[in-house]
Amino acid sequence: MTIIRCNCGNDAFYLRRHSGEALCKKCFVRSVERTVLRTIKRESLFEPKDRIMVALSGGKDSIALLCILSKIERRYDTEIFAVTIDEGVRGYREEGINIAKKVAGELGIEHYVVSFKEAYGNSLEEIYNMASSKGVKLLGCTFCGVLRRRLINEAAIKFGANKVATGHNLDDEAQTIFINLMRSDVARMIRLGAKPLKIRKGFVPRVKPLRYIPEKEIGIYVYLKGYPLYERECPYVRASLRDEVRDILNRIEQRHPGTKFSIVRAADKLSSLLKGEVGEIKYCQKCGSPSGREVCRMCELLSLLGLNSEVYLN
Ligand code: SF4
Ligand SMILES: [Zn+2]
Ligand SMILES: [Zn+2]
Repeated sequence: MTIIRCNCGNDAFYLRRHSGEALCKKCFVRSVERTVLRTIKRESLFEPKDRIMVALSGGKDSIALLCILSKIERRYDTEIFAVTIDEGVRGYREEGINIAKKVAGELGIEHYVVSFKEAYGNSLEEIYNMASSKGVKLLGCTFCGVLRRRLINEAAIKFGANKVATGHNLDDEAQTIFINLMRSDVARMIRLGAKPLKIRKGFVPRVKPLRYIPEKEIGIYVYLKGYPLYERECPYVRASLRDEVRDILNRIEQRHPGTKFSIVRAADKLSSLLKGEVGEIKYCQKCGSPSGREVCRMCELLSLLGLNSEVYLN
């Protein structure tokens, strides 16, 4: 049997199919970290004195992100801290919160947990039950995604961050681009990048240092670093269009390695060609938040339930 070796001479344990590289464990970890560093430099994601909030769910992406950013905090003269959102899904969320606390503690990173209950007065479970009792047939994830996004922004403002780093990986980005194409939403597709094309008033800019790391490699990175993988499935999860797109892209990637990179690169090229076409930023007439519509999705959802769209974070 032929033993495949890494460039450094050690036995390889991972074959990166899209590039043909064979890597040992040590070189694999370094190469993931180097790619993240390159993304940060090339896209100018950070500047000295940035106070960066990592949105830390406790899942593998955000754990990898926190781990890598904690290593480069000094090099960039930035300050990193983490916030975990507790949506309030009993039997599911506790595990992620515990992992997040443990990892942030081990890395010596300042960490806060912010809940839907304290911010909105209701947990996701309560909001979902309220919606069902009023005959509003929307998925738990619809409420969760919109409310979480707003809360991350409010937490960033409250804790003094000037940037939010999220764990979106290559697979997430390729899927979103594909979905936007299916919906013919070119504007949204070109706005998607490692950092925002425009600064929006009242919205702390989000950056995505893991945008060019495949999901599979993030899982391996976290495993090699010895951090726990958060396995539990949320009871509200339902088959979605994204799941179908994920399956399709995984099948294509299997037969044509590098496809996900090509999709993201194509969107990057389009974005640099069309960035002048990004229209004026609109603001919600009810709550004043940046929004593509007259009334933002959050105000729309909460008014369906007769709730106020104020976020209370004391
Ligand atoms: S699966 Fe849906 S409801 Fe559950 S945490 Fe994720 S977005 Fe929220
Ligand atoms: Zn090696
Ligand atoms: Zn609004």
